[in-house]
Amino acid sequence: MPTYVYDFSEGNKGMKDLLGGKGANLAEMTNLGLPVPPGFTISTEACRAYLETGDEPDGLRDEISEHLTALEKERGKQLGQPADPLLVSVRSGAKFSMPGMMETVLNVGLNDESVHGLATQANDERFAWDSYRRLLQMFGKTVLDIDGEAFESALEEAKSRAGVANDVDLDADALRELVETFKQLVEQHSGRDFPQDPREQLDLAVRAVFESWNAPRAILYRRQERIPTDLGTAVNIVAMVFGNLGPDSGTGVAFTRDPASGAQGIYGDYLQNAQGEDVVAGIRNTVPLADLEGIDKQSYDQLLEIMEILENHYLDLCDIEFTIERGKLWMLQTRVGKRTAAAAFRIATQLIDQGLIDEDEALRRVDGAQLAQLMFPRFDSDAEKKRIATGMNASPGAAVGRAVFDSYTAIKWSRSGEKVILCRRETNPDDLGGMIAAQGILTSRGGKTSHAAVVARGMGKTCVCGADKLDIDTKQRQFTAPGGITVDEGDVISIDGTNGEVYLGEVPVVDSPVVRYFEREIEPDADELVAAVHRMMTLADDRRIMRVRANSDTPEDSARARRMGAEGVGLCRTEHMFLGERRKYIERLILADSDEEREDVLATLLPLQRDDFVGILEAMDGLPVTVRLLDPPLHEFLPDITELSVRVAVAEATGDAHEGDLRLLQAVHKLHEQNPMLGLRGVRLGLVVPGLFTMQVRAIAEAAATRIEAGGNPVPEVMIPLVGAVQELELIRDETVKVLASVRERTGVELKIPIGTMIELPRAALTAGRIAEAAEFFSFGTNDLTQTTWGFSRDDVEGAFFSAYLERGIFGVSPFESIDVEGVGELVRYATRAGRAARPDLKIGVCGEHGGDPESVHFFAEVGLDYVSCSPFRVPAARLEAGRAVV
Ligand code: ADP
Ligand code: MG
Ligand code: MG
Repeated sequence: MPTYVYDFSEGNKGMKDLLGGKGANLAEMTNLGLPVPPGFTISTEACRAYLETGDEPDGLRDEISEHLTALEKERGKQLGQPADPLLVSVRSGAKFSMPGMMETVLNVGLNDESVHGLATQANDERFAWDSYRRLLQMFGKTVLDIDGEAFESALEEAKSRAGVANDVDLDADALRELVETFKQLVEQHSGRDFPQDPREQLDLAVRAVFESWNAPRAILYRRQERIPTDLGTAVNIVAMVFGNLGPDSGTGVAFTRDPASGAQGIYGDYLQNAQGEDVVAGIRNTVPLADLEGIDKQSYDQLLEIMEILENHYLDLCDIEFTIERGKLWMLQTRVGKRTAAAAFRIATQLIDQGLIDEDEALRRVDGAQLAQLMFPRFDSDAEKKRIATGMNASPGAAVGRAVFDSYTAIKWSRSGEKVILCRRETNPDDLGGMIAAQGILTSRGGKTSHAAVVARGMGKTCVCGADKLDIDTKQRQFTAPGGITVDEGDVISIDGTNGEVYLGEVPVVDSPVVRYFEREIEPDADELVAAVHRMMTLADDRRIMRVRANSDTPEDSARARRMGAEGVGLCRTEHMFLGERRKYIERLILADSDEEREDVLATLLPLQRDDFVGILEAMDGLPVTVRLLDPPLHEFLPDITELSVRVAVAEATGDAHEGDLRLLQAVHKLHEQNPMLGLRGVRLGLVVPGLFTMQVRAIAEAAATRIEAGGNPVPEVMIPLVGAVQELELIRDETVKVLASVRERTGVELKIPIGTMIELPRAALTAGRIAEAAEFFSFGTNDLTQTTWGFSRDDVEGAFFSAYLERGIFGVSPFESIDVEGVGELVRYATRAGRAARPDLKIGVCGEHGGDPESVHFFAEVGLDYVSCSPFRVPAARLEAGRAVV
């Protein structure tokens, strides 16, 4: 039988899988000798067993009893004992932090008798009844599934009856009455009495924590954060310490550095005479942590000392929960804190400078997704704006959208394509869906450690919180701001998470400084953040083996990509070059019924194509440019079949039909496909439409010759799409070789143009060894490879059933967003190995969307590809991730 329960003294920070993050770090702090209340952790393994069978695994109860007895001995009190009760908290805590997503119950062990013992021991009636009402409230909500509103409104009523604004102003009598009300509520809503047996309370609370792993909001959060669904949560049983014992007590949260900017200093919030969640729930206004110095200097100094110990121990920003009980400081939680993207870069460089971590470690501390966030636009500081309030800059970014006041509306409106800002007095875990759907989040209460702030930072979503001049009325669906301003549901507002400002209407946005740095518009030392980004990019570039190219089919994009650090073009699509004006040539090409006519059209197209390539080769002078020959089905260039049919029918009815239209309609009918994705496209076009590919190859070769004559150094590569069999490639390659030779002969310019292929069909991957004999390079087209491996078409399935698949855990993330390592990734691995075995100097890259996805880039670097290619804007993130892959 496995061990399911571990004392805090038995664990350490490396045991997160088993003990969860909270449990592992409580153990670590205990072993560092910090003042942690004693307790023990029930492992995630026990949770998984429980979730599987719906029952505690054998032996768990006994193990809990053993550890409870030891805890009782240590504290010299027994759980819920009437005269002097031991009370405990029952706290969730998974491997990955899921702030507020699961459940915690405080004050377990109180009942109708022990509440008196607690009052006598603490010499504080009010405190004892306050603790009991909190237990009833949390237990009712969490364990017995009663709507929290029921308790909230009873509390509100009690306050208004007593004529007080805050819960701290309710006296012992009022709280005793409230306890009676709460007990009745429990009875009414759950059909049972509140359990008076302390051990039964404990066991039920443990079960409720296990079950909270599968609460809808926890499932949603895991999906958003890509946390696996089968880990389970640990449960921590911790002896209670009390922050609600009067003004010399309190509870708070702290960060060792500013999680928004990374700056070092004293950051946090403190609330006197309060317990647990009060700080983050924004129930009363907290004071800045620095004020604790004036309230309780001794605890304050000790806290700062502990914060330093923790930073030096974890070598990173830590966040902390603490409680002061009558002047005695207790540590209740720590973890390496969530931070904004900007803070991540700044902290990583600060820690190198402080000598705490080395450069490789610093690179591990930032990632491509964070860099991508820093490249989002900002509000234009020169634009005229109407500021209506200022709150806290909780999570940076510039968000514009229509004000909405509840999660449901946020989701509904965003589904219909509206951009929305979720406005709440404060958020709670039930708002998660709306927070995900919104562009940004605005609250009128709570500090930088409030639920809204923590969750928004984690998601990289813009958030302004604690804008306390705003009166947010969710029932009326509006808020008011000073100066008689009213914002109704649907009105557009703009919020700036970088400085905390809230504006009426839409404020225009401009490029972020990080983008301006990449664009070389500002110097690498322009500000602290840009300097940190520059430093990390340099570290990544120095280390990475894999190259990064860009997907680009215009000279402008190519030039931009090059400024962003692209080392060539990995995919130059040519279909864009046949749209607009040129569409009619393709139409003529398709309709041509003699060789002469066809050659005539191709001769018209040739110089146009050549000019397209000259510009790109010039922008990428000295760097490779991979040109993909025409890929999409031809009917994409033809009129829509239905429209054309109607037009022809009308024309025929009025006796006005043109011969040309009739022929076009015939052609459209002929080319119409049930499954265009699997139809006449790619190399198949080259084999079926005479002269099309050779015209393109000629244009590439002539463009290169032109560039060489102009003193340039063009490095074009010809890429054949959608090859499934080596024979297809051989046929096109032979034609290509002939064209290249003829251009060489005619221009007298020596041209070395490699010919390669895309690997984007499973058959190509499986026969990669054979294909490599005819290809000088491979480029994985991972979009098509994903479609053809899974057998679904992206456009048809993403809206249709992907959300159901994500919900049911079939994928953690869409395989179009991040490479499916197990399936599609395996084909990539296999084809790479087989290709290189056949041709050791085979160059291999990726040109699908995955080439710009940080996680996928990491995978491609591991497989040992030579380069990835992505849109110009994603080049920096890919460079960073390629560097991270080798440290
Ligand atoms: P979460 O993961 O949502 O932060 P926690 O388990 O950390 O939940 O607990 C919720 C709140 O209760 C926190 O503020 C925590 O500090 C407080 N708390 C938990 N256990 C104790 C305890 N034994 N004594 C006093 N406060 C506690
Ligand atoms: Mg909580
Ligand atoms: Mg906590």
